[in-house]
Amino acid sequence: MPLLKLVFLGTGGAVPKAERTLPAIYLEDWLGHRILLDAGEGAQYRLLHIDVSPASLTLVAITHSHEDHVLGLPGLVLTSRFLGGRLRVLAPRTMHEALGRLGVEVGDSYDGGRLKIRCVEVCHTVDACGWLLEWDVGYKLDLSKVADLPRWALTSLIRGEAVEVGGRVIRPEEVADPSHRRFRRLLYTGDTGPCPDMWRSVEWVDVLIHEATFADDVDPRKAHEEGHSTVADAVEAARALKASVLVLTHVSARYPDKGRHRALARAVQPPPHIYVPEDFDTILVKL
Ligand SMILES: [Zn+2]
Ligand SMILES: [Zn+2]
Repeated sequence: MPLLKLVFLGTGGAVPKAERTLPAIYLEDWLGHRILLDAGEGAQYRLLHIDVSPASLTLVAITHSHEDHVLGLPGLVLTSRFLGGRLRVLAPRTMHEALGRLGVEVGDSYDGGRLKIRCVEVCHTVDACGWLLEWDVGYKLDLSKVADLPRWALTSLIRGEAVEVGGRVIRPEEVADPSHRRFRRLLYTGDTGPCPDMWRSVEWVDVLIHEATFADDVDPRKAHEEGHSTVADAVEAARALKASVLVLTHVSARYPDKGRHRALARAVQPPPHIYVPEDFDTILVKL
């Protein structure tokens, strides 16, 4: 079953607090991919805390060059090397030369067969990638249309491959349950202000992890000038992207707790699933 595990290792931004450290999210999917989204300072210790070895990571995806998102990377690189691995890092192109000097394998996309990851340009003050993860979950077949087909043909059709049976070519779309979607998507924005061009290019996601540096006590224009979002901006992005799950993170240290963020999230109508995790909170998402 398509199931994602998300562990929010660091839910702060820019200035850390004891209980709210710098951005890092651990994602594990049902296919065995282990991905770290951003590597705030101390990310490797936080991974060890949840029993994940840095050397076991499929990749680390860095959104941009601001220090709160990358200072944990050198430690991860060194530890992986000591353990005999070579870290694969996704990052915006402008960071590739510097990251190459760290001795990592660097790129701006990943093709893992049923999981593909690509950079989508977000609206921050420096070159920045939101990371769009797309899983091919295959087709769910309409049993009334495939009752006579051999098992090997069903396996191929579920995977999205056309088959030839008894001289007849059958395409998966012809025998799929029409209400079923073949792909599932998660987008992690990293730091961004409202970004309508990005929303239009991405069109839809299932899960949106969006920054909400500010609640509603800051002039939104000031937030946007700094390349950041308010809770209302994140909710607007979730609506534009038709997300069914919205997770708010990168909460400024100016808020002693996340009560204001939670109150604003609760007031959203109609209510989508909105989460405001603390550090080390785990969210399981059935896709
Ligand atoms: Zn940041
Ligand atoms: Zn930033």
